[in-house]
Amino acid sequence: MASDSSKLIVQGHELCRTYEVGDTSVRALDHVNIEMHVGDFVAVMGPSGSGKSTLMNILGCLDRPDSGDYRLLNRQVAALDDESLSSIRNSHLGFVFQSFHLLPRMTALENVLLPMRFAKTGHAGSREYGCELLSRLGLGDRMDHRPNQLSGGQRQRVGIARALLSKPTLLLADEPTGNLDSKTASEILDLLLAFNREGQTILLVTHEHEIASLAHRIIHMRDGKIEQEEMNA
Ligand code: ADP
Ligand code: MG
Repeated sequence: MASDSSKLIVQGHELCRTYEVGDTSVRALDHVNIEMHVGDFVAVMGPSGSGKSTLMNILGCLDRPDSGDYRLLNRQVAALDDESLSSIRNSHLGFVFQSFHLLPRMTALENVLLPMRFAKTGHAGSREYGCELLSRLGLGDRMDHRPNQLSGGQRQRVGIARALLSKPTLLLADEPTGNLDSKTASEILDLLLAFNREGQTILLVTHEHEIASLAHRIIHMRDGKIEQEEMNA
């Protein structure tokens, strides 16, 4: 695992995020410090409501902290305008969701290629690479199928191919196996591990210890705080 500071991708310093709900406020993130280097595979664990998704959304530039400093690829995210932010998201970040988030009227391949429609820059990937990813993920003969013709595990493979299309610097996966049976979940994890071995940096949110134990490092969250960090050999 790299620890060279030039290969630092994520630097979150004292990140706080509070949600106001009616007249109460919920401290979803409470002074969180996190760093990730190129090639890392980090799992974020913790009970429901502990702030895992809030942290992932901030690191993925989908949300901003109320206070604290977040640097992604050495750039201060708070200082970026909307255009720079969406360009950094499109070319450097890939997202995988628990509920897949596929468009039902589109084929597997069209779903994978969707990010290319939104990207202004040329870094969003190519049709050729989309086909290559689907083949590698075992869906070479399912590219023209719509999501309702695919199993849950196959849908998530499409979600992973879509997230990897731009060769993102950082892949963020929020409970990607939460809707899958355990055998399918472990197949999906094996795929993520294989991409990590080839250098893909991954942040994986999960509440299952068995899943987290595959990561290099486990961050345990509770009540918006990092309670403990565990290194795996
Ligand atoms: P986790 O992903 O670990 O289940 P979340 O990050 O989703 O936790 O939530 C952390 C806390 O913030 C919880 O108490 C949750 O209810 C609250 N929360 C999350 N999102 C919102 C929101 N959009 N509005 C209000 N409260 C929220
Ligand atoms: Mg969550």
